[in-house]
Amino acid sequence: MVIRSKLADVGTTIFSTMTALANAAGAINLAQGFPDYPCDPTLGERMAEAIAEGHNQYAPMPGHALLRMAVASLWQRRRGTLIDADSDVTITPGATAALFTAIATIVSPGDDVVILTPAYDSYAPAVRTLGGRVVAVPMNVHDGLLDWTKLADAITERTSLVIVNTPHNPTGTVMSLDDVDTLASIMANTNALLLSDEVYDHIVFDGLRHVSPAGHPALAEKTIVVTSFGKTLHVTGWKVGALIAPSAITRELRKVHQFLSFSVHTPTQIALGRYLEQTSNTDNVAAFFQAKRDLFVHALRGSSWTVLPCQGTYFQLLGYGTMADIEDVEAAKTLTTAKGVASIPLSPFMEGHESAGSLRYLRFCFAKRDETLLAAADRLKNGMP
Ligand code: PMP
Ligand code: GLN
Repeated sequence: MVIRSKLADVGTTIFSTMTALANAAGAINLAQGFPDYPCDPTLGERMAEAIAEGHNQYAPMPGHALLRMAVASLWQRRRGTLIDADSDVTITPGATAALFTAIATIVSPGDDVVILTPAYDSYAPAVRTLGGRVVAVPMNVHDGLLDWTKLADAITERTSLVIVNTPHNPTGTVMSLDDVDTLASIMANTNALLLSDEVYDHIVFDGLRHVSPAGHPALAEKTIVVTSFGKTLHVTGWKVGALIAPSAITRELRKVHQFLSFSVHTPTQIALGRYLEQTSNTDNVAAFFQAKRDLFVHALRGSSWTVLPCQGTYFQLLGYGTMADIEDVEAAKTLTTAKGVASIPLSPFMEGHESAGSLRYLRFCFAKRDETLLAAADRLKNGMP
């Protein structure tokens, strides 16, 4: 029997590939984005309590009220606007599932979906699985800038969804108020909705602040925001995220969510809800990661790596163009096996990018213990193998 593949060109993700290679080579893993230090032990205590108290059956389909309220109050505290925990917030099993749910809700076979590349690796396969066509608009990787005219030209009457990501993985750029204004004017005369991936919304550096398209009056009614607790609370393995959207969109999102996921792990939702009720730790996340970025970059001073600006996320792009003229996937693999430091090449994020093969940057995750970052920098300092 022949199985017709919907994703014939897709293999194992670059994150799994590089982590497996790092483990096999005994390398320091700065590839896949996850912390190598423990989360706040209080979170674990809240989880143990929730299980011991017997919260072990299905949670309500839209999410446990405690966690939806925590999402709404965090939103109000950090973004200054009100959302309704009952009608605007849906808890999902991580951001990946939130993205897939939103794409499945909005995109019909034959629709165009505009993405900005480099783009997080799940967007394009999700769109294609659901019968949509990916229209990629390339960003300039060196400075994270976008040619807005190209974006405007890419959106047509066939476009049902535009996907943006701020702070941006992998370039580390963040949208400004001017960017969001421009986006609003481009989307003004279109029928497209906006999917805004904001999983790193707490991780913005150097006095900048997170600007969400959902905060713009002209975009608020057409924007679906995706968040994830994994990044903010250092628990990527807990896989809990949320979709935040106006009630009319949320009603449709939940129709898909109830058949894709139905509901999310109950004790984890209660643990997160209770923890967030009691902590202001989330306000310190940006400073925590900024110190790690600075430590890593400082430790590389005097080396031949080109350090690109990083305004947010926990990823640093480093250029190796002055040291080697090889493609980035090969560079990442060689660096892992020969130098013992694993990173992520950019080309897997580059659907639609003509110059993907000529880019000479690797992405390094700095959500790591200081000693891990210093040991990695030490190995990287004397250049490419
Ligand atoms: N979007 C972006 C931009 C990400 O970097 C990630 C993972 N780090 C996700 C979505 C997926 O998040 P989750 O692990 O909660 O599914
Ligand atoms: N989002 C993580 C990263 O960018 C990886 C998640 C995954 O492995 N799918 O590193």
